[in-house]
Amino acid sequence: MPQSLFFFPKCPHLIPRHQIQGQRRKKSATPVLRITQLDALELDSSLEQLVWTQFSQCFQNFRPGILTPVEPELRTLLHLLLWRFTLYSKCASVGQSLLNLHYHNTLFLQQGLRCLTLVSGIAQLANLVNFLIFIRKGRHPVLAERIVGAQAVSTQPNMIRDIDYQFMNRELLWHGFAEFLIFLLPLINTRKLKATVSSFVFGGDRARGEGTTEGQQLWKECGLCGEWPTMPHTVGCRHVFCYYCIKSHSIADTCLTCPKCGAEAGQPQPVKMNVEMTEM
Ligand SMILES: [Zn+2]
Ligand SMILES: [Zn+2]
Repeated sequence: MPQSLFFFPKCPHLIPRHQIQGQRRKKSATPVLRITQLDALELDSSLEQLVWTQFSQCFQNFRPGILTPVEPELRTLLHLLLWRFTLYSKCASVGQSLLNLHYHNTLFLQQGLRCLTLVSGIAQLANLVNFLIFIRKGRHPVLAERIVGAQAVSTQPNMIRDIDYQFMNRELLWHGFAEFLIFLLPLINTRKLKATVSSFVFGGDRARGEGTTEGQQLWKECGLCGEWPTMPHTVGCRHVFCYYCIKSHSIADTCLTCPKCGAEAGQPQPVKMNVEMTEM
């Protein structure tokens, strides 16, 4: 408890609550000692700390640090609960209640808010009326223009209204095209397309050229990632692939073809050991 409570146990400003309600008008003018107000704040913060300690003790048998990630949120929630049952309902915090104080609104906020709502309503109505007059008479589309008397006039009179929509049309077309591309691109299997094109262009030559030297080279690199094949597998043609590469590609694409020669890919089969030994 703050020291000042001991120093000022019978402060003349600490009037009981029923007297405050009886003499509200007088009380609102009565100043409260600074030390009393500070005491109230001190009591409030002590109470908040106490509530948090009690709350965190509920979790002392859980894993350590379980509350840490959400501590600010929980503290805020507890503050909100305290606020709901003290300030919101009684117009006084716990510390203030203990010291027989309460809040008194001096700003006339309610009346101010009501005035603002009224003014904004009138402004909206005036805007509507102004717009109706504009539709009827064709002058001052905005209320502010009507108030200051500003009117829009043509810089070159008797000109036909001619707006060039070519730029806008081009933008619209380009936007549509870009959206179509964004929709279409994920549907295109670029790897398969590339394999088909490359097999169409070089396929014949490669198939014929797979003699001794090039054939040996083909066995030493994965047809998909180009690295030394890890757990080498074939799909029925003369090329080898890492097990991971060919398996993941065949899962992603059910009608997979060899990216090197374009041959229809069957089930991945492990490369025979004797072949690998001779190659190495
Ligand atoms: Zn690979
Ligand atoms: Zn192949």
